[in-house]
Amino acid sequence: MKVSRDFEFDAAHRVLGHSGSCGYLHGHRYRLQVVVEAANLNALGMLIDFGDLKRIVEERLVSKWDHAALFRYDDPLVPAILEAQPEAPERVITLPDNPTAEVMAKTAFQDIGKALPEGLTLTEVTIWETPHCSARISLSDL
Ligand SMILES: [Zn+2]
Repeated sequence: MKVSRDFEFDAAHRVLGHSGSCGYLHGHRYRLQVVVEAANLNALGMLIDFGDLKRIVEERLVSKWDHAALFRYDDPLVPAILEAQPEAPERVITLPDNPTAEVMAKTAFQDIGKALPEGLTLTEVTIWETPHCSARISLSDL
C-alpha cells in the first residue's frame, strides 16, 4: 500500500543558460508530493502517521527550500546574493545542476528517502512548478 502527502512552498530559481524568461531569477509557488510505501501497516492500521510524514518532509526539505533561492552551484548570482543578505546564507541553495523541476524532484527524492524510518520506502516525488507543469521521479528511475 502507498500513502502520499502534499506540501507547498515558495522559492526563486533560474535556469542558467536558458535563452528565454526561465533564465531570469523568478519565483514559483511549488507543490511537492511525496509517495511512500510499506509492506505492512502498523498496529494503528497506518502505513505512517501523516503527521510524522509531514514533520520529516518539512524538516528535511520544505523548511529549507521555502523562501529560498535555488541555483546551479556555479551561478554567478550566488556570491552576489550571499553578499547582499549575509544574515541568511541558508536561504541560498545550490544544486549540482540547474534547479529545474526535474533536478529539484531528484534532489528531494534523495534527501527525503534518507530520512524515512525503517520499513518505509519512498516510491515517488512530484514537483509542480506551475499548476500545469510537473516533474515526477520514481524509485525505478534511480
Ligand atoms: Zn521557473
